Amino acid sequence: MDVTILAVGTELLFGQTVNTNASYLSKQLNDRGFNVMYHHVVGDNPNRLKRLLIHSLEDTDLVILTGGLGPTQDDLTKETVAEVFGRELLFDEECYRLLVEHFEQRGRKMAENNKKQAYIPEGATVFHNDAGTAPAFAIEADGKCAICLPGPPREVYWLFDHGVSDYLKRFHEKEMVYKVIRTIGIGESDLEMVLMPLIDGQVDPTIATYAKEGECTLRVASQRDTREEAEEAVDAMIREIDKLIGEYIYSYEDTPLNEVVVHLLQKYSLNLTSAESATGGAFAKSVTDVPGASEIFTHGFVTYSAEAKEEILDVPEDIISKLGVVSKEVALTMAAGALERAGADIAVAVTGCAGPTADPGREPGEAYIAWMTGGRLPSTSSCIHIETKRNERRWNRNYFCLRMLSSVYRVILNVEKEGLLPIQG
Ligand code: AMP
Ligand code: MG
Repeated sequence: MDVTILAVGTELLFGQTVNTNASYLSKQLNDRGFNVMYHHVVGDNPNRLKRLLIHSLEDTDLVILTGGLGPTQDDLTKETVAEVFGRELLFDEECYRLLVEHFEQRGRKMAENNKKQAYIPEGATVFHNDAGTAPAFAIEADGKCAICLPGPPREVYWLFDHGVSDYLKRFHEKEMVYKVIRTIGIGESDLEMVLMPLIDGQVDPTIATYAKEGECTLRVASQRDTREEAEEAVDAMIREIDKLIGEYIYSYEDTPLNEVVVHLLQKYSLNLTSAESATGGAFAKSVTDVPGASEIFTHGFVTYSAEAKEEILDVPEDIISKLGVVSKEVALTMAAGALERAGADIAVAVTGCAGPTADPGREPGEAYIAWMTGGRLPSTSSCIHIETKRNERRWNRNYFCLRMLSSVYRVILNVEKEGLLPIQG
C-alpha cells in the first residue's frame, strides 16, 4: 500500500522543529511492508493543507498526518480532514470524559478551548491518547484512509504502539521480513559493484545499501504471503551475499561493532586496553557503552600530549622527536606501553590528526592505529596507516574509533581461526 506522510506545522517550515515524526513513521511503515512514497510538510494553513491532502489522497491510499490537533486557533488539521472527507465534527462523550480526567489527575483546570479536542469526525475510529490530550483518529472512505496524529513525537510513539499499529494490520497485504547486515572495510560503491549480480533486476528480496559514517549496511527485505516464506527468501539471499562479501560482514543482525567486539572478548575471556591520542577517550567510551564491558576492559589511557605518551606509556622521547608523534613507531610503542601497564591480552593504540588543521607535513584525517597482543595470547603486533582526506574533526575521530574496533575485531577473528585462544568459547 502506498503511503504519504504529511506533517503539519509552520514551525517545521521555519526550521525550528525537525520533522522527526516523518522519519519515525517511515521506519515503522517500511518495517510493516508499506511503501512510503512522499513526505510532505505544510504550515498551519487550512487552504494549503486541504489542497495537499486532496492531492495526497489521489496519489496514495493512506495518508498519515501529524500535528495541528492541539486546542489552539491555528490547529486546524481535524477540521480540514473532516471537510475533505465530507464529515461533520461530532462531540464524543468518551473523549470528553478522558480529557476531563486527564486534567483532574494533574490537578489542573481544563481550559475552555481544550473542549475542542473532544470533537471527532463522524464515523472515525478514535485512538485515545494517554501521552497527551489530543485524541488521534482514522477515517476511511472509498478505499482511502487518513490517520491523524498529534505533533509531539512522544505522543506519536505512544499512539503508534497503542492503537495505530494494530489498526494498520487491516491493510497488510503481505508479510514483510528484513534483516540488516553490517560491513566494515568496504566502501558503498565497491559493495554495490560486487553485489551487482544480485542487485541487478532484483524484485524480491530487495537489497538496499546504505553508507553510514565509515561503514556500510545492507538491508535485505522480502514480502511474501507468509512470514516463513519471507524469512526463507531473506536467508537464502543472505547466503548469496555471504559468498560475495562474507569477509567484510561483522553482523547479520544489525549489531553495532562495539557490541560485537565486546561480546567476542567476553566469549573468549580476553582483556582489552587502549592508548588513545587523537580520539581522546572516545574508543574507551564506545567499548564501555556496552553493558558488561567491565568484564573485558579494566582501563585505557588517554595520552594526548607527547609528554603524557612518554610518562604514562614509556614512548621513548627520541622516537617522538625523530619520527614525529603521528608515526607508526609511536603508535606501536603506545600499544606496547598500554599492554604492559594494563596487563591486557590485546592493546589498541591511535595517534593521528583529527583536524580541521594538521601539523606541517601531516594531513587532517591521517592516523596510525597499532594493535598488540600479549598476556594470554602469543605476542604479535601490527600497525595500519589511515588517510581519510577529510578535515572534519568529529567524522575523523569517529572513523578512527571504528577502525580501532575493527582492528580488535580482526585480531580476535584471527586468533580464533589460528586456534590460539586461551579458552575456547
Ligand atoms: P501540534 O500538535 O501541531 O500543536 O505540535 C505540537 C508540537 O509537536 C510542536 O510544537 C512541535 O514541537 C512538535 N512537532 C510537531 N510536528 C512535528 C514533527 N513533524 N516532528 C517533530 N516534532 C513535531
Ligand atoms: Mg502545530
